[in-house]
Amino acid sequence: MRTSSLFAPTLREVPAEAEIASHQLMLRAGMLRKVASGIYTYMPLAWRSMNKIIEIIREEMDAAGGQELAMPAVQPAEWWQQSGRWDVYGAEMWRIQDRHGRDFCLGPTHEEVITTLVRNDVRSYKQLPLRLYQIQAKYRDERRPRFGLMRSREFLMKDLYSFDKDEAGLEESYALMYQAYSNIFSRCGLDFRAVEADSGAIGGTGSHEFMALAASGESAIVYCDKCNYAASVEIASHPPVGSGLGETPGKQKTVSTPNCRSIEEVAVFLNMPTDRILKTLCYVADGKLVLVLLRGDRQLSEVKLKNALDCLELNLAGEETVTAFGLAAGYIGPVGIEKIKILADAEVPLMVNAVAGANQEGKHIFNVNYADYKVDKVADLREVEPGETCPYCDGILQGARGIEVGQVFKLREKYSEKLRACYTNENSEEKNIIMGCYGIGVGRTLAAIIEQKHDEYGIIWPFAVAPYQVIVVPVNDKDEELMQVAEDMYATLLKNKVEAVLEDRKERPGVKFNDADLVGYPLRITLSSKKLAAGMVEIKTRRDNKVIELPITEAISWVLVKLKEEGCLK
Ligand SMILES: [Zn+2]
Repeated sequence: MRTSSLFAPTLREVPAEAEIASHQLMLRAGMLRKVASGIYTYMPLAWRSMNKIIEIIREEMDAAGGQELAMPAVQPAEWWQQSGRWDVYGAEMWRIQDRHGRDFCLGPTHEEVITTLVRNDVRSYKQLPLRLYQIQAKYRDERRPRFGLMRSREFLMKDLYSFDKDEAGLEESYALMYQAYSNIFSRCGLDFRAVEADSGAIGGTGSHEFMALAASGESAIVYCDKCNYAASVEIASHPPVGSGLGETPGKQKTVSTPNCRSIEEVAVFLNMPTDRILKTLCYVADGKLVLVLLRGDRQLSEVKLKNALDCLELNLAGEETVTAFGLAAGYIGPVGIEKIKILADAEVPLMVNAVAGANQEGKHIFNVNYADYKVDKVADLREVEPGETCPYCDGILQGARGIEVGQVFKLREKYSEKLRACYTNENSEEKNIIMGCYGIGVGRTLAAIIEQKHDEYGIIWPFAVAPYQVIVVPVNDKDEELMQVAEDMYATLLKNKVEAVLEDRKERPGVKFNDADLVGYPLRITLSSKKLAAGMVEIKTRRDNKVIELPITEAISWVLVKLKEEGCLK
């Protein structure tokens, strides 16, 4: 490729709409262009990198027994109604109608289509296991598309579905996929962690998310500094601790706490630590008010609360809603509440002589104990925080942020039962097929690589996923001899199957170097009239910005050895 014909219009300015590095750099390097909110065109450079990621995924999926197929993006509503998800999926599902008024959706995922396919064509245990995958566009009508490819409305995804006879088969498929995912993200050059995760709208039990570590990541995770334990803070658990332990339960006493609406205000006013105060939150779950109790210094995990309530819609109740139920906002507590459902975090029964809201403006109650109020359900509801001890060893949990690039789920019989995907076993008995599903966001992987691999000048592609591996830059385009050496070198690289670019534009050297750094070619061969007179060239490695000087006769063989080391050439 010659830069004079490469369609990669670079931008000098950072586009205002782009908030994070990967989005900014892809726009600036001419890799991505917006079509509509959350919908993008991948320009040639980005598409080359995407295809390299896709090829890595394909190799690892095939090696793990996967068979590639292609399902349609347009899916009939009936199949989603059968699985019970047509109503559950909510506004994120992109719904369309055909000319006859029949409902369809643009697939956000493909469990319905693939399970129906397998139901119709698999009869016997002899046809199992099956591992089917595709790499295809998915659609989710995000409320707030942002961060470029991180949260877009149309995105490329690899989804594999495993179909096994039994739990042991599922374990084997899951372990194979877990390993394949680890291989894929390692080969893409990502620093990642596999964390225990919530299974969300997809359902089933047992799930890991593969998180690329990055400060801009949307997910908070904790990981142990001693063992392998890692989990999203949404579901990480820790044994309950409680507060005031060892005290004798005292007698309730109502005290005046004017203008103390937050836990911190109450703690300061009463000169008590926040862990002695009972936090009472009001939520609306599927239209019903719910009170949620936590130790005052803890944060609620809405994911855990949603799972504990088994509800579809969950929102923090506004002050108007709270007042409409006759509650005093800022002074709510569980004592005396009769008609509202109350959930308590597992630490709450272990809080002795706590302070709680008195359900009267400006009043709190001292010495509130678990026996003093009625709780409908106790569950682990709080977010674990960095600095706490590991639930499996005596290590300390560390906090990090991650970009979810892949997720693996054990679905078990969730879909095969509803969609009646069965097989006949060795004893002629009919059994539900045991399923798993495994996704990778391809565009998000690309963006995560850039989030981790960039500097102030541009992208630093790992060799394996760089759009091109080498750029040849003759500094002075008016020096005909120099241009001829560059042409020859470029031709030799191509002959050796190196993915090379020749910088042949009539531009100032600064522009050429800046664009090469911005696009992030792993190797840059620089040819200058002065060096050439001495028979020398410069090669810059983008990864560490190291420049070496070599005799021109050795340059090509140095590049070939380097690319072999990096696994780019056989
Ligand atoms: Zn540990």
